[in-house]
Amino acid sequence: MDTYLDRLNPEQRLAVETVDGPLLVLAGAGTGKTRVLTTRFAHILLSGRASPGQVLAVTFTNKAAREMRERVSALLGRPAEGLWLGTFHALCARMLRRHAEYVGLSSNFTILDTDDQLRLLKQVMELHRIDTKRWPAPGLMGAIQRWKDRGLTPERVTPAEDTEFAGGKARLVYGDYQRRLAELNAADFGDLMLHMVEILRARPDVLAQYHRFFRYMLVDEYQDTNTVQYLWLRLLAQRPDGSANICCVGDDDQSIYSWRGAEVENILRFEKDFPGATLVKLESNYRSTAPILAAASGLIAHNDGRLGKTLRPGRNDAEGEKVMIASVWDSDEEARMVGERIEQLQREKQSLSEMAILVRAGFQTRAFEERLITLGIPYRVVGGLRFYERQEIRDAIAYMRVLNQPSDDLAFERIINVPRRGVGDVALSALHTLAREERIPLTMAVLRKLQDGSLKGRVREQLNALMETLARGREMLSRSAAEDLGPAHIGVVEMLLEESGYVEMWKKDKSPDAPTRLDNLKELVRALVDFETLGGFLEHVSLVMENDENAGAERVNLMTLHGAKGLEFDSVFLPGWEEGVFPSQRTLDEGGEKGLEEERRLAYVGITRARKRALISHAANRRIYANWQSSIPSRFIDELPPEHVEQMGSAALAREQMRNAPPVFGGQFPLSARRPRTIEAWEQPARPKREGGIAPGTRVFHQKFGYGIVEGAEDGKLDVRFEKAGFKRVLDNFVEPAGA
Ligand code: ATP
Ligand code: MG
Repeated sequence: MDTYLDRLNPEQRLAVETVDGPLLVLAGAGTGKTRVLTTRFAHILLSGRASPGQVLAVTFTNKAAREMRERVSALLGRPAEGLWLGTFHALCARMLRRHAEYVGLSSNFTILDTDDQLRLLKQVMELHRIDTKRWPAPGLMGAIQRWKDRGLTPERVTPAEDTEFAGGKARLVYGDYQRRLAELNAADFGDLMLHMVEILRARPDVLAQYHRFFRYMLVDEYQDTNTVQYLWLRLLAQRPDGSANICCVGDDDQSIYSWRGAEVENILRFEKDFPGATLVKLESNYRSTAPILAAASGLIAHNDGRLGKTLRPGRNDAEGEKVMIASVWDSDEEARMVGERIEQLQREKQSLSEMAILVRAGFQTRAFEERLITLGIPYRVVGGLRFYERQEIRDAIAYMRVLNQPSDDLAFERIINVPRRGVGDVALSALHTLAREERIPLTMAVLRKLQDGSLKGRVREQLNALMETLARGREMLSRSAAEDLGPAHIGVVEMLLEESGYVEMWKKDKSPDAPTRLDNLKELVRALVDFETLGGFLEHVSLVMENDENAGAERVNLMTLHGAKGLEFDSVFLPGWEEGVFPSQRTLDEGGEKGLEEERRLAYVGITRARKRALISHAANRRIYANWQSSIPSRFIDELPPEHVEQMGSAALAREQMRNAPPVFGGQFPLSARRPRTIEAWEQPARPKREGGIAPGTRVFHQKFGYGIVEGAEDGKLDVRFEKAGFKRVLDNFVEPAGA
């Protein structure tokens, strides 16, 4: 009868059937913690202990919430409705709407996005006469968020905590910011939790309501809760009579959000806060094959201060392939290798949605996205935008479009005031009017208005500088074309992004995602290297963007390691395991074991996502803009137990090493205050020139354009008719002969 219980091992069953009282499941990856939670949910309902609305279940992502809802429905055999199931924030938002008046809001309050938040904070800072140049608003926003993560309202922040910012004014500003939010009937993201905790603390009647209402509480990924979330859980769970029906599942080895205020110590506090709690350990991993498990366990053993857990294979087909380690020449080869492997798996009838490429940082998706597009393999970027859809990439491409095509009004409009040049709505509409009346492009209208003196002051200065930069860029491009100096567009684009102030804008931005955006911009410039002209690149981008509509469920998953928590796939690709990428450069710069241990946990999360196969790769060279830098394999690779991994050779790497081709050791970031690089300093990637040409009629493969037939050849250049991209003239050392 009890089929759903039969699908559990004895420990899991214990965790499901110990329904009353506090319970902590502490167990390694893939041991069925989430399965326990879902089954427990169903068990509570099926055994008549509570109705669906009386269980509070917290997941880490909305995706996980959806999955849990589906799984509970499946176990129940009917749609599960009226559930209190979701992320901390979603649940809190729902609760807060019912009690908003207690914190001075009405129930239809708005939830501000980060832009609105910052704008509001800046206004408050101005009232306090804080110099936002010296004390940038995003920095203070971060401090306020951290306070909120810790459950600290302005009143609870002690003066001792408030010394760093603006001479101790942060607390004051925080208080006024909260008051402004209330006046606007608005809450920011952090408020959702903070307000609810305040209400539960201050209003015993409300708390008592929830104590009656929620009979059971379930919490997934408990290791990544921060203090305010912990307080919220504890308030809701601890009833006045001392009882608490709360079940938390977690794994200290998978704590990867300390940068967002998560406190792994919450696990240790559980037994203290909930005396008499049952502790269940699960030790059989049902997800991964034995070698994958052994590799992951061997890696995480390098961390100190673990709670210590045993993990053993629980599957009977646990033989399996070793974890593969591929050393490749550069990131292009890495993407090619992963693409080939995916095609091979496809031929073996493996489902694309069972494959995932997990990267450390968002910029890494670009090479894979382009490769997958070239190969015609559908993919989705989970939890984020595709590379060319990201805001900073669209902005930078708008700059390039204006450079390439001064009459591109849409692009120009996007960038005319990014970064801010004081071009207000009035000025912009005057420009539009002029452009319309005279039938000239907007850029031309700007020039006219600069000439006739109708633009004044800062706007004039700034637009003048922008137009000069654009003109200089265009001149550099045409000179290099006329004098046949080779591709100049990379240096020109760098110059443009620098001197227009666009890069500077993100450097000054103190918001947490600014470094990521700068990384993406660097990656964009790197992408230019494969094209001979700016026009060629822009055309490529529009092709890539068009490819958007390959809908359908069958897609390869691309996501960050952080986003992959709790998920599983048959095949997992883990690229970029190099010092400075993973572990990240920031972690290395900060030094210290703490950051490194968190990176190592992230690596552990990565490997343990794989059911059947995991392929780790590292490139010997990374391009930093147009320069090359040699890179060292990640220390995490050395830490994998050798008996469970297998080195995969790379033909190209071997070839390059045989030739002893020295990469260019650059390693400096040109997006710094340095002068823009000139064409002379630009180096072709250290790829060998092919001996002898490729004859017309040969079928070839180009990294960007895919397969095609050579129609003509002339000093290092080939005319190729590509199957997908049409007719193109390309450099022959970007082309490889391909089988028919
Ligand atoms: P993570 O730490 O990564 O979140 P987890 O501990 O939550 O992992 P689950 O995702 O619940 O683990 O389970 C991992 C896989 O093992 C799932 O595919 C699940 O269906 C399967 N599984 C769990 N328990 C059993 C079992 N007793 N028998 C067979 N398969 C199981
Ligand atoms: Mg899980």
